[in-house]
Formats: sequence, structure tokens, C-alpha cells
Amino acid sequence: MNGGAHDHKIRLLMDLRRTGVTDTRVLSALETVPREVFVSDPFLEHAYDNRALPIDCGQTISQPLVVGLMTQYLTLGPRDKVLEIGTGSGYQAAVLSKVARRVYTVERHAPLLAQAEARFKHLSLTNIVTRHGDGMKGWPEQAPFTRIMVTAAARQIPEGLADQLDDGGVMVLPVGDADQQWVMRVTRSNHRLHTERLLAVRFVPLLDGVPDHDPDT
Ligand code: SAH
Repeated sequence: MNGGAHDHKIRLLMDLRRTGVTDTRVLSALETVPREVFVSDPFLEHAYDNRALPIDCGQTISQPLVVGLMTQYLTLGPRDKVLEIGTGSGYQAAVLSKVARRVYTVERHAPLLAQAEARFKHLSLTNIVTRHGDGMKGWPEQAPFTRIMVTAAARQIPEGLADQLDDGGVMVLPVGDADQQWVMRVTRSNHRLHTERLLAVRFVPLLDGVPDHDPDT
């Protein structure tokens, strides 16, 4: 990374701390994971801007502040087994992999998943397991999970995913339509779900199924 990019990164980390990312493990994960590896070439110089950026297949890499806050809301520890729905660029999964034991991540666009897998390999992130498929169905063979993060907006809390939460488990996800979305935290205890509304956001939608044809990238 050149000096200018390094300065951008330091400034971004200071901004994130000031605006609510205070957990030191989350901050150090954000410091360790090179976001420039996850953005598309035309946006390289914006890798440390605090904004979402376009990636292939009409999707986006999330805004750093939202990645930081959602990771913090998940209250992760080194023993957690995390399911992420919506691998996208792989950036959020990489951040999760620094604070959790293992990350299982599902993406419906095969080309995005292939790019993310190459990045995980390049960065030696060996505790991330990937799957191409419909994340609405979760990952039944690996359930239950102690933590679940969804990085695309659902119209309502997907019950099938909540069912794959361990007792005491926590799920963080954006819920809403194109006009209004909130990050919600769902905590499962004694088979009951407790929900909290935490942050207004804007995500791409969570869609059903996998595409018949993916664009070549
Ligand atoms: N976590 C990503 C954000 C990507 S945007 C990152 O850090 O870059 C959300 C992603 O969710 C998109 O790649 C989209 O294709 C994916 N997605 C939407 N609905 C899905 C579903 N049902 N199953 C799996 N992935 C889905």
C-alpha cells in the first residue's frame, strides 16, 4: 500500500471509532483486512472511503461503517461458528474470520463466489468455508450456528435461518424494502426470538434461489 492509501486507511479507522465502532477486536479486524483486495479495479482509489462500492453481478461491497457496526452487534468471540448469507466480495466474511472460530458463507452468484474464494486463498484465510447456493435455506448440514449475519435485505426475518440458530445464538440482518431498511438483531433463547432494531441502512435485496445464468466477469 502506498503512503496516500495508508493515510486514507488511518483516517477511515479513526472515523469508524468516532462513529461507534469501539470494540477493539472489531477495530483490529478492520485494520488487518486489506479492503483494497476486495474492491473492483476501477474503485481501487476509493477502497478506504467510507462508502459502499459496486462489485460484479450488480452487487455492492458494504460501507465500512456498516461492516464494523454489524460485526460489533454480533457480539463475537473466538469460539463462534458463524453463518454469513451474501458473500459478495468476501470482505465481510474476511472481517468475521478474524474474530470468530469459523465462517460459513453462502453466495447465489457463482462468479462472485469464485472471486471471493481466490481472495481468501491469497490472504490465507483458512477458516472460511464457502458454498454456492440459496442462502435463504441456510446451511442445514452445518447448523446450528452460534451467530448468523445476513448482508442482503430480507422483507422479514427469515424463519428458516432463525431455526438454524443455536440456543443463545444471535443473528444480525437488514430487514425492509427498497425504501426503508433497519439492521435488526435477533437473539434466540429458550426457543423464543427477541428482536431489536438498531440502525437505518440500505442494502441490496435478499433474493430467492440462484440465477439461471450468471454474467461472465
Ligand atoms: N457481504 C458482502 C456484501 C455483498 S452484497 C461484502 O462484504 O461484499 C449482498 C450479497 O448477497 C450479494 O452478493 C448477493 O448476490 C447476495 N445474495 C442475495 N440474496 C442471496 C441469497 N438468497 N443467497 C445467497 N446470497 C444472496
